[in-house]
Amino acid sequence: MEKSLTKTLAHKLKISVKKVYDRYEAEIEVDGKPYKGLRVIKPREGKKPLVAEWGGIPLKWDIQATLEDQPRHVWGGRAELEKRLLAQVCEMCGTTNITDQLEVHHIRALKGLQKHTGREKPEWVKRMAARQRKTMVLCRTCHDDLHAGQPMTRQTIKLKEVLDLQKQRLRRRLIP
Ligand SMILES: [Zn+2]
Ligand SMILES: [Zn+2]
Repeated sequence: MEKSLTKTLAHKLKISVKKVYDRYEAEIEVDGKPYKGLRVIKPREGKKPLVAEWGGIPLKWDIQATLEDQPRHVWGGRAELEKRLLAQVCEMCGTTNITDQLEVHHIRALKGLQKHTGREKPEWVKRMAARQRKTMVLCRTCHDDLHAGQPMTRQTIKLKEVLDLQKQRLRRRLIP
């Protein structure tokens, strides 16, 4: 996960991956526990610096996910999922306050989404099908609701709003 981010940064800054580690490796605290991660600080005149941290985020993968099944080069592939994780936006309710409870809903195959026939497909099914993704980045509340098959507790924002939010947050976080 972190490896690909360091590559992205190295490429952007035109420096080596090792330099990225030298420059940005930091101890990041999650739930009071220190983790090794990356911290990028962008100073701004007259304003608080922008701080981007990466690492130490506990990711709960679905039990039905298997290693072979991890998205490879479908669409954006893994790097694309990493960007979505880095943006830290719930892809249903749009909350961005999910640093320590980011979860990934993972399905085996896209064709499994078509099983939901005969009745209105849940929004998350439509959304995964529309994006042709086998993963969905969610806050814990939305993930729990999705599995329980109950109406979402939190109000769902439009898919376009999710994508805009992710783009916006990535732009802000990745530029040191
Ligand atoms: Zn959510
Ligand atoms: Zn799930």
